[in-house]
Amino acid sequence: MAAGRSVAIRTRRVVLFDMGDTLIHGDRARRLALRFGVRQDEAEAAVQRVDRWFMNRERHIWRHGGGDFALRWAVMVTEILGLAADVYEVAELAQTGDADWRMQPEAEAVLARLTARGYTCGLVSNWSLAGRGIARRLGLDRHCAVMVFSAEVGYEKPAPEIFTHALRLLGAAPHEALYVGDNYWDDVIGARRAGILPVLVDRVGRLPHPGHGDTPLVRDLQGVLAWARPVTPAPELAIAD
Ligand SMILES: [Mg+2]
Repeated sequence: MAAGRSVAIRTRRVVLFDMGDTLIHGDRARRLALRFGVRQDEAEAAVQRVDRWFMNRERHIWRHGGGDFALRWAVMVTEILGLAADVYEVAELAQTGDADWRMQPEAEAVLARLTARGYTCGLVSNWSLAGRGIARRLGLDRHCAVMVFSAEVGYEKPAPEIFTHALRLLGAAPHEALYVGDNYWDDVIGARRAGILPVLVDRVGRLPHPGHGDTPLVRDLQGVLAWARPVTPAPELAIAD
């Protein structure tokens, strides 16, 4: 065998996350449950089911809102939960203001665990200019070495550029990263386009999405830990040219 190049085989060392409904949630199910006296897990399942419907069938309106989206969403949730409620009130209650966002219960511990395992964490989010303030208020900047928001960089998932922008800031290659998100169309397809392995979070059985195929699937962020083992020192291999 001829003397060859020395090539470092590197393990994954970066975990990038989507923000909305992955690391944080809009607290809609709790508000609906409190106001209308339904169980929170039932409200959560209804919210997720209607979210999925829009995510899969009306992606543009799901992403950008507008029109009568809020009212249609409320009609569907009201119907599923069998609420004797004014749909306008349901729609209003489900509006998520910047101050309503909360961390997912397990997010902080998982981010800390990944950091302890040697991973660098980051955010890649489709969000308005309010995104950075929300992330800071919730303390995500303490865990994330980079926070990339679509409104700041001018690219929106599933465009690969928003992912490669984050990788460039971290000096990392696509194969060194995982991307964790809850939206098949933006997160899984986008990460794949950028050459990053996607992990899809499906908290209440929203799948199957058409074509999700062999995408790693986890029920919550704890599941990500199985895809991000402790980082070990990179072995050096000499390979022939
Ligand atoms: Mg999301």
